[in-house]
Amino acid sequence: MLRFLLLPSLLLGCLIGQTMPPERERQLARDIYKELIEIKSGYTTGATTPVAEAVAARLRAAGFPETDIFVGGAIPAKANVVVRYHGTGSKRPILLLAHTDVVEAKREDWSMDPFQFIERDGYFYGRGTGDDKAQAAVWIANLIRYKQEGFRSDRDLIVALTADEEGGGPYNGVQWLIKNKRDLIDAEFCLNEGGWGEMSGGRRISNDVQVSEKYVVNFRLEVRNKGGHSSMPVDDNAIYHLAGALDRLAKFSFPLKTNEVTRGYFQAMAKIEAGPLKSDLAKVTEGSRDAMERVARASAAWNATLRTTCVATQIEGGHAKNALPQLAAANVNCRVLPEDSVEYVTDVLKKVLADDQVSLAISGEVSQGPPSPLREDLFKAVSRLTDTLWPGVPAVPIMVMGATDGLYLRAIGIPPTASRASSSTGMTYAFTDATSA
Ligand SMILES: [Zn+2]
Repeated sequence: MLRFLLLPSLLLGCLIGQTMPPERERQLARDIYKELIEIKSGYTTGATTPVAEAVAARLRAAGFPETDIFVGGAIPAKANVVVRYHGTGSKRPILLLAHTDVVEAKREDWSMDPFQFIERDGYFYGRGTGDDKAQAAVWIANLIRYKQEGFRSDRDLIVALTADEEGGGPYNGVQWLIKNKRDLIDAEFCLNEGGWGEMSGGRRISNDVQVSEKYVVNFRLEVRNKGGHSSMPVDDNAIYHLAGALDRLAKFSFPLKTNEVTRGYFQAMAKIEAGPLKSDLAKVTEGSRDAMERVARASAAWNATLRTTCVATQIEGGHAKNALPQLAAANVNCRVLPEDSVEYVTDVLKKVLADDQVSLAISGEVSQGPPSPLREDLFKAVSRLTDTLWPGVPAVPIMVMGATDGLYLRAIGIPPTASRASSSTGMTYAFTDATSA
């Protein structure tokens, strides 16, 4: 699916009708992209500091003063780089975010070297070409271009390339910056990864822009029992209690509903869809229960877009083949709509499990942020740009089921809008007029 993607950037004056930057600029973007891909920054075995240093060196060479470049992070190997391009200051800054770590890539799992940048048949190959080093390269290439052209924005543009999005954990760059260098990244809003483009039958059909995401809550279900010998069973059995509760959960679904973002999404999908669900997709936006049922049944992704979901993912219990179980436990993983609270989900689950021998406790951390507002000015800019690059292709707002670093920014009032940068021959990079938004 990640084949055709919008690389967001910022408008330089009036570029309507001009979709590609000059060859020299494209080559610079491509060179940076290649350099970043070939640095091994796997989040468990690699380091992000060499990426941060390579970027800082390019910025210095382009004339950015040392005072506008920050390199640092949670540990020496996990540095982030933050750079500020000064505008007139009449509006608050925009934060342009990308992460520099990548999912681990084993050479034996790949048909080519994952840390060699390769262009073939119109696609770029290499770990991080889609997630998320193209975006990092585009931000930096554009910033250098602005510098060379003397562009003056009405706001500061802050680029933050950060560590350990993939692994999360203690070295996550966005969390570290919020805690230790908040002033460096403070902005009115943020552009981040998380969206994608969709193709169907070789035709580009939408540029999906993520404006909201579900949040995750894990629950541990637990039944404890005094146990006994299996030769003398009793009705009160920990495994049976848990199995009964999970069976009730399996048969339960949270109510179907839409919010501002998902209504926008289904509205756009109704225009794109050519099959029998076309009219149902339109009816979903009008609140039709029957249409929502049919749409949810048609696709696991649409089902997850229309409701909070909770599903059993792990199970444990018993300690010997001939002993009555003293413990039976399960993990239930919930993906919660932004408008549903943790308390609501907990209450509903208790009612569904309907057994007071089954205890329910939240396991791990819950990171919940409000949805980003659907900014009309920003969305118009993205739509206009998308149409300039790919005439007739709509920009579609989406809520995703996974999570990005955007959730930490949402929580502190810097709403992220996301579009994942990736690869197409010629390193297309696009221009939005978000600076004037
Ligand atoms: Zn990513």
